[in-house]
Amino acid sequence: MKEAIDRRALPERGKYQELKVCADGSERAHQPFSGWSELWIFTGTRCNLTCAGCYTESSPKNDSFRFLTREQAEKILLEARDLGIPRINFTGGEPFYNPEFPAILERTLALGFECLVLTNLTRPFESKGRDLAHQRIRAGYPLYFRASLDHPDPIIHEQGELGPAKIRDYPVAGSPPQGRKFWFFSGFNRGPGSFRKTVRNLGELFHMGGRISVAGRGPQGVGGDLFQAYLAETEPKFRELFRENRLPADLPLKIFPDIGGRSERDVPEITQHRCRTLISPGTFDGLMCNQVRMVAVPAVWNGRENHTPRVYPCTIVPDNPAMVLGTSLQEAAERETYLADPRCYRFCIAGGASCSKD
Ligand code: SF4
Ligand code: SF4
Repeated sequence: MKEAIDRRALPERGKYQELKVCADGSERAHQPFSGWSELWIFTGTRCNLTCAGCYTESSPKNDSFRFLTREQAEKILLEARDLGIPRINFTGGEPFYNPEFPAILERTLALGFECLVLTNLTRPFESKGRDLAHQRIRAGYPLYFRASLDHPDPIIHEQGELGPAKIRDYPVAGSPPQGRKFWFFSGFNRGPGSFRKTVRNLGELFHMGGRISVAGRGPQGVGGDLFQAYLAETEPKFRELFRENRLPADLPLKIFPDIGGRSERDVPEITQHRCRTLISPGTFDGLMCNQVRMVAVPAVWNGRENHTPRVYPCTIVPDNPAMVLGTSLQEAAERETYLADPRCYRFCIAGGASCSKD
């Protein structure tokens, strides 16, 4: 099959500029939806913290994605129930920073869904979520929590570039050419006291019978083999932290690679030809866009104020309007996803990462 077409007939284009076509004119990789494993719901870009390198640039003032309302959630949940979706995952921002989130969570559980909440388990959880979580876990509801912990060292987790732990000397076995690297923890700054709160709340949830897991982000700008070396070095330290805090040493743990922004296009594009010949079928089958969708409410759509929830193929690309698949779950399930964002390559193809699958 002839993959590339005559570039002389095309206007100049850069990488990741068109949805269906790569810069060299090749057909961009795309895939149909294979069926629902879960639905992600984005609760808004407000968060009590302002972590540098946050995938969603969340902060107490970021309103680029609105707080999801109870009314919007009700409509989404009823459609999800009709479609037989078994599990709802909530992410943000900090879900418990959304004033209507506790009611949304209660309703989600009452409708019979399994439910996962991604949270930093700090102040908003303590004031708005802890009592509800404890009560529902004790009552046997399938309510799970994934807590954000960037690093097992509290100083690095909390202070990042602001504190004395900005540069630490970590030997990395086999990392060429110097044999010794420095990690720059420039994306980590969750603030004083956050580590202790998160670990304490994680322990409470676990000891009352809750299902818990941990997710963190790798240092900014670290990818490929260096990221693998970082994982090999950091995971045992997380395991030690879990043991010290009477948590299971084999607690599910995800450490995500730095994914850069939508505008950072200095990575290869994935053509349809390349994806079918060079990338293993397992990689493609495991992509989030193969089996999940995410709903979020962008504050602006086509230059106008927006209050309509939009459906995205996954958790990674909500700031890219070209990736939107529709305004209903059914419509979004019927449409193919084009791997038209540089983070498709960084996070999923090169990074092999997925927010799903505990
Ligand atoms: S706690 Fe999570 S959502 Fe909030 S700013 Fe930090 S990384 Fe972003
Ligand atoms: S970021 Fe990953 S899951 Fe999302 S659309 Fe791209 S390839 Fe699919």
